[in-house]
Parts: sequence; structure tokens; C-alpha cells
Amino acid sequence: MEVLERLRRDELNAVLTVVEGVEPGEGPLSGLPVAVKDNIATAGVRTTAGSKILENYVPPYDATVVKRLKKAGAAIVAKTNLDEFAMGSTGENSAFGPTKNPHDPSLVPGGSSSGSAALVGAGVVPVALGSDTGGSIRLPAAFCNVWGFKPTYGRVSRYGLIAFASSLDVIGPIARDIDTLAAVMEVISGPDDRDATTLNRPPFSRWKAEEFARRGRYRIGVVSDHLRIVSEEIRERFLSLIDRLSREGNEVVEVSLKGGRFALPAYHVIATAEASSNLARYDGVRYGVRLEGRDMLETYVRTRSLFGREVKRRIMLGTFVLSHGYYEAYYLKALKARRLIKEEVEGWFKDVDVVLTPTNPTLPPKIGAGFSPVEYYRLDTLTVPFSLAGVPVLNVPLGSFVGAQVVAPFGEDERAVGFGMYVSRFL
Ligand code: GLN
Repeated sequence: MEVLERLRRDELNAVLTVVEGVEPGEGPLSGLPVAVKDNIATAGVRTTAGSKILENYVPPYDATVVKRLKKAGAAIVAKTNLDEFAMGSTGENSAFGPTKNPHDPSLVPGGSSSGSAALVGAGVVPVALGSDTGGSIRLPAAFCNVWGFKPTYGRVSRYGLIAFASSLDVIGPIARDIDTLAAVMEVISGPDDRDATTLNRPPFSRWKAEEFARRGRYRIGVVSDHLRIVSEEIRERFLSLIDRLSREGNEVVEVSLKGGRFALPAYHVIATAEASSNLARYDGVRYGVRLEGRDMLETYVRTRSLFGREVKRRIMLGTFVLSHGYYEAYYLKALKARRLIKEEVEGWFKDVDVVLTPTNPTLPPKIGAGFSPVEYYRLDTLTVPFSLAGVPVLNVPLGSFVGAQVVAPFGEDERAVGFGMYVSRFL
């Protein structure tokens, strides 16, 4: 199998484990090779979350998404590299080394679903699964010039996803074309008894997406606040898409996101707070590696020292914002900002069908550029507002490391993907 050959060679450091000897099954995805981000559990196959602390962890069960893919006949061929516990925007926070951008190996592929996007961008696999908490599907999809979809919060089961920030985490596909992406969405989505946060809505419908794609003559909102902060080359490329859409007979109007400036700080308070609680379980007792000390405390300290710098930083920040006396000042305030942003985003759709905005504010940095943490956080400026709002967002690849987001109302995943089908005809 040529796919396995290329996965074994792994010139981009995109692969953490090659899954040998899988037999393709029967079903709607029969024979489709799929790579899976290594924070999604695969029975009998090592699942590391990109961390030393889970280096030898072999889950005894499949995540619901994996189970559904297998049942549909897909072949899970690889587990992909990622920023440790999905915390990062470049792929450089992996304990197993950075992944390279398939279109220029000196550049980052984006993160945290770095390996998934790189493999699809390199044409090694047609589709891969990623997870998105603040942009981790959309940003690497944009940097690697592929499609990526963050479904509505709750539309896809997270049973078997190693939790980062539970009020934001979603699983979704990264794909070379929009039809493969839609086919995978149809299989992985829908309610799941094992994840109480799944929405009580039917699975994603390709047919509904295609129907929306046929409609044409949309009313499209463009986020004016975002266009002011993106770099020149991003703005130009994005506006040439908007231009084309106008010439196709669509109506374009401006929408604003006044709460947008609160999005990044609110996200980092909420996500770190939830992460500090989710990562408390890696204590050397129940999961993964245990480094024995003289007493319990020393065992904790030695074991938890295996976390990388970024993960430690987030745990400390999260513990701080939840601590007595600071809870109101940070966490509660962040929740209010989140509410504000959600209401503003929801309000857009009283007037427009979809909203378009760039995915990445700047081009991908070089590997090892060594910016400050906050500078790397800024790469998520345009993606986190929609994570806070929980709405579905599609990354449309515009080429040369630039992507556009298609935002749709909560639960209307078919609208975002359907618009992608429409726009794919003249990319
Ligand atoms: N880059 C963001 C962060 O570092 C988002 C990560 C993600 O979506 N998993 O938190």
C-alpha cells in the first residue's frame, strides 16, 4: 500500500504511529485511509496526546468517531503529531518534535492538529481527524491549504477525545476536498449515549449541504473589525474572494464584532481554567507514565514534571484564575465576555446567510522563530470568537498559506459546508 510507505517515510514528522495491517471494511467509506490526531483514542494503538506523560498509553477502547469510521469501512492508518494536549498554534509544542509545512518545510504547518493537516496537505491521506478548541483544525488547515471543519459544539461526540477545555473542544475533519469532508461528517456526527453533551439532532446531512450549495445568491456578512487587523497579503487574498462572490451575484454586507477584542483574553482564561482541572488526572496513579518518588508528593512532582513548558504554563494560569479572590475578576468576567460574543455572532444571522472572515491573521511563521507565548496566541485571534460562540466554521483554502472561514448559525453545519461546496466551484 503506497499510503503506508509514505507514512513510514514521514518526511514532515507528521506521524507518531503508523497503524500496520488494517483491513479496509465495507460501508460508505470503504477503503478510505484516514489519519487520526493522537489525542483521539484508538483501541490497542498508542495515543500520546503529543506528551511524554502519555508516551506509552494504549487505550483499551475506540473513541466514538473512530468506531463510526471503522464501521463505515474506513481504514485508520496513522496517529498524527500535535501540540502537547492540543495546546498550541504551530505544532512546535509536541514532545515528539515539530511537524513541517508540506508546502515549505521551513515553515510551521499550524497547530494544534499539525500532523493531520500536514498529511492531508502533502497528499499522503485524503482526510484526517483533528480537534478544535480555539482554532486547532482551522488554522493548520489554512496554513496547509486544505479544507477543515469545526462542527457545532456537540454535533460530534467527544467520547475518547483527551480533554483540553471541555466547554470548547470539538472533533472535526481536515480534507483535500469538500466532498470527502462532508462524507466523513455524515459518518462521525450525531448523538452518542457516551457523550452527554452531544446535541439531540440528526447526523450531518450531505444532501442538505448540497441543497444549500445549489441555492446561490447568498447574503454574505464580512467582519469589518477583522479586516482591519490582518496583514496586507491576507486582506488582499480574502478580498479577491469577496470580489468574486459579488460578481457571482451574491450580496455582501459588513458585520461587526465589537466584543472581538475580548475574545482572546476570555478564551485563555476559560481554556486554561478548564485545562487545569482536566489535566489534574495525570498524577502518575491512573494514567500513563509514573515516576516514583520517596513519597506521594514527590511522585506527583516527578511525574507531572514530564509536562512541557506550555502545558505547565496553562495549568498554572488556570489554577490561578480559579483561585479564591480571583475567580470573579477573571473567570466570571471571561464568561460574561463569552456571552457577549455569542450574542453578537448569533445576531448576525438575522440578516445574513453566512459570514466570511479570514482564518489566519498572518502567514505561518518559520519553525523555531521563538516568538513570545502571547505572539503565538495572536495567531488564534480570528478563530477563537467562534469557538466561544460554539458555531460551525469551515476553513476554505485560498492557497499560499491563506484560509477563509465560513461561519454559520449554531447547529447549521450543513450551511457552512454547503457554502464550501458552492465556493469550491470557482476557487
Ligand atoms: N491555539 C489555541 C491554543 O493554543 C487553540 C488550540 C486548540 O484549538 N486546541 O489554545
